Amino acid sequence: MSSPENPTCFYCSEYAKVVKGYPTNFASNDEKSFTPRCFLHWKFECSKCGVMTHFNGISWCSYCKEFTCLGCVEEKIVRKKFLAYDYYYNIPCNKCGKFNPALDFAEYNGTHPFQIKDLQSEEQITVWMPNNKEEIESQEINRKISGLERILSLGIHRTVERLETLDDYTPKSTWDKLAPMYVNLIHEENEYYHQYIILPELYRLLDVQKDEKILDVACGEGNVARYLTRSGAKVTGIDISKTLDYAIEREEKENLGIKYSKLNAEKIREKFEKSSFDKVVCNMALMDIEDYKTTIQQISFVLKENGIFVFSITHPAFASPTCRRLRIPEDSQRNEDTIGIFLDYFDERPAVYTLHITDYGYDMTFLTFPRPISSYLNELTKNNLVFREMSEPKASEELVKKFPRNAYLYDDIRPGFLIVKTMKKSDF
Ligand SMILES: [Zn+2]
Ligand SMILES: [Zn+2]
Ligand SMILES: [Zn+2]
Repeated sequence: MSSPENPTCFYCSEYAKVVKGYPTNFASNDEKSFTPRCFLHWKFECSKCGVMTHFNGISWCSYCKEFTCLGCVEEKIVRKKFLAYDYYYNIPCNKCGKFNPALDFAEYNGTHPFQIKDLQSEEQITVWMPNNKEEIESQEINRKISGLERILSLGIHRTVERLETLDDYTPKSTWDKLAPMYVNLIHEENEYYHQYIILPELYRLLDVQKDEKILDVACGEGNVARYLTRSGAKVTGIDISKTLDYAIEREEKENLGIKYSKLNAEKIREKFEKSSFDKVVCNMALMDIEDYKTTIQQISFVLKENGIFVFSITHPAFASPTCRRLRIPEDSQRNEDTIGIFLDYFDERPAVYTLHITDYGYDMTFLTFPRPISSYLNELTKNNLVFREMSEPKASEELVKKFPRNAYLYDDIRPGFLIVKTMKKSDF
């Protein structure tokens, strides 16, 4: 029923994907939006408060001939698969209190006021009748109908895959593969995020003093270890991946006195004694470590009393995989065309995502173990590591001037990283 002037109703089109022969009415409301809507799928006026309410938030009582909106009464949620959804609202009538489903489920059930002829449509629309539920082709939930999927479908975005098992990816295998590219990307002088956003704050919180013994957990190719050594500390670096080979190679050339060991961050106790370090640092690695609880426990073990532990991670709330960035249009070079989209913050399943590094022309696949901020902080407390300071680094005015496309309307409006400083208090 769509005409050149009128687009097809968004809801009619979505329902037509799951119901054989569902009539697609033209949209006479919201025509210029992403979700133009027909009269049937528009708004209805609540008999109590008079507010025009979306059809999925208002119910019809055929006894009282009353519409009741969600805002006037206390609705209930009913979990049931129908059309493109897996639940609906049950909304009590404001007069008699009888629960009636919101109009999206009512239509599926054949009790919509247009279907039972309680009301006459003001516009020419074809109303579907569920005479035969076999017409419903699929009960699959059509995720495209959700706001998130609708928005993600508008532009290019980073694909994030959640894993149920670690059969195909492990932190070691992922980092072994990443090693040559990562070393190329990260070496001290030219990686924007490390040089300008993360490391200045990490070093400020670490406040390194001459001759301090520092353990660099998951030290990678060693850029933090080298900086701390040049600042006068005695540094030991551990890592399990091939990135460590680059650190060792470089140490052989530069002879700074850094000790490196191929050691899993979850097995620190196997190699180091209790209270053997003044400070421990873990730069951009704890979110990539599967068993962060054991790692934190062992870090606490090797720290001296009043020793300092500082770690940096990708921000659990504002960075991937919890928050995805999307550009519309995808090739726009202005940062105001970028939006952040939130996914499930509490989903702790491992995630794999691929970054395309434009400057080098290669793809880097990362494995990460997302967890809420509270999980980290509570684990520290459990292990006698007392919270001292937190930093969510923000791009400065100077950085915005120097790197406008990186920093402006991006690193100056939301933190991409979280840095935490703790102090070890005595065990007992
Ligand atoms: Zn419609
Ligand atoms: Zn109302
Ligand atoms: Zn009623």
